[in-house]
Amino acid sequence: MSGPVILDISKEIKPKDKIFLDLFPSKNKEELDKYFQKIFEKKKNKFVSTFLSEFLPEKLIPFILNFSSIPKTRKISDLTKEERLRLIKVIKGIEFNVTGLLGFDKAMITSGGILLKEVDSKTMKSKIINNLYFAGEVLDIDGPSGGYNLQVCWTTGYVAGINSTKDD
Ligand SMILES: Cc1cc2nc3c(=O)[nH]c(=O)nc-3n(C[C@H](O)[C@H](O)[C@H](O)COP(=O)(O)OP(=O)(O)OC[C@H]3O[C@@H](n4cnc5c(N)ncnc54)[C@H](O)[C@@H]3O)c2cc1C
Repeated sequence: MSGPVILDISKEIKPKDKIFLDLFPSKNKEELDKYFQKIFEKKKNKFVSTFLSEFLPEKLIPFILNFSSIPKTRKISDLTKEERLRLIKVIKGIEFNVTGLLGFDKAMITSGGILLKEVDSKTMKSKIINNLYFAGEVLDIDGPSGGYNLQVCWTTGYVAGINSTKDD
């Protein structure tokens, strides 16, 4: 799995955890069933896979069909009620077993580090050791993906840089 969502929750994930993906979060199962039935009326001649590609990533579609036990060549007009309900069940809660994480070498951010209470945030100077300044990853601070971690290293680096030269 890749992308911002899994990156953000990866620090909470352990091997043997289960991940459930809701691929259509704006509707519950019943609403989605009604919605699909309405659309299916107008798209009877389409393949189920073509319909799914209108709102799901292409690479995911073979897995969705496989997990729903629906043949790749199934047309909407031939879809049984059981197949439709299985499809909805999978779309609303596709299940993955976590086998592992990529580890430190592939990590983007580290959690842990110098305790923030031991650092003066106005100067980034250590409250414990004189003339020692901290910035960025070495601090016990980590944010979600979206540039917050870069902002932390730039801002704390700037503040530490400005203030440490004052000591000279
Ligand atoms: C693949 C990847 C993608 C990322 N994408 C994002 C993103 O999109 N948004 C975001 O906000 N953050 C992102 N990050 C995190 C962000 O890049 C880091 O938080 C940030 O670069 C930390 O900066 P830093 O200067 O504190 O540490 P680093 O960038 O790790 O710099 C530490 C430097 O110290 C050097 N060093 C280590 N030990 C010694 C030593 N003993 N003596 C001398 N030098 C030493 C290292 O070689 C390195 O150059 C990403 C990180 C990775 C790995």
